[in-house]
Amino acid sequence: MKQESYGFSRGRFNENGVTFMEINNTNIEKLKKIIADTNNIVFFGGAGVSTESGIPDFRSVDGLYNQKYDYPPEEILSHSFFINHISEFYKFYRDKMICENAKPNMAHVKLAEWEKEGKVKAVITQNIDGLHQKAGSKNVLELHGSVLRNYCMDCEKLYSIDIIINSDNVPHCEICGGIVKPDVVLYEEQLKNDIIDNAVRAISSADTLIIGGTSLNVYPAAGLIRHFFGRYLIIINKSELSFESDADVVIHDGIAKTLEEI
Ligand code: ZN
Repeated sequence: MKQESYGFSRGRFNENGVTFMEINNTNIEKLKKIIADTNNIVFFGGAGVSTESGIPDFRSVDGLYNQKYDYPPEEILSHSFFINHISEFYKFYRDKMICENAKPNMAHVKLAEWEKEGKVKAVITQNIDGLHQKAGSKNVLELHGSVLRNYCMDCEKLYSIDIIINSDNVPHCEICGGIVKPDVVLYEEQLKNDIIDNAVRAISSADTLIIGGTSLNVYPAAGLIRHFFGRYLIIINKSELSFESDADVVIHDGIAKTLEEI
């Protein structure tokens, strides 16, 4: 398979000659040094960050496919499905997308600690579970929104997740009776421009970019990392990514397990 170029304008190797060929243990040591050495880290995370908190990745093969549903998750979680089959949407959504008992794991905890220490400037996430904030992170850019925020489609009144959990089926606004929709970017919907702008700004001014728990196969989110021109690119992911040769440190392991060791 032809490798896709992510067009980094930086070299394959950094000035220390650190390459992706290093094995995990050596890489943990290198990562420790980099983290100690930098005060401008941006983290870009995906589903793998949440799966270690027990939240299933609906895109993965063994993810959320279930005989209980007549449609694949990608179709159910689309804008047109929301409009045309709203009852079926909420049945699936309530059942599969809300994990109210999930707790932050060591990846969330470490990133929040590093933010407090002034090292991490932003966490950009494709996840919608709010676990980074639960762990204490402040500057979290949620590319795909959050299940914790919900709003009336008519009067725009904001609701917590409780209205979704406590509704029998389609949740309705207590004020005007309008449909309450999760503040989550569904398939066929656009990402919010201000979030994208902030993410681009954070990545393009970062010294170190850690990509964790994502195979970066969802656009336009994946295209964001093209804006990185900093010193250290770090990839922590269970499976191999196509642009690893651009990275200074590559660790093929779980993100929580890896950050716990730092
Ligand atoms: Zn309303």
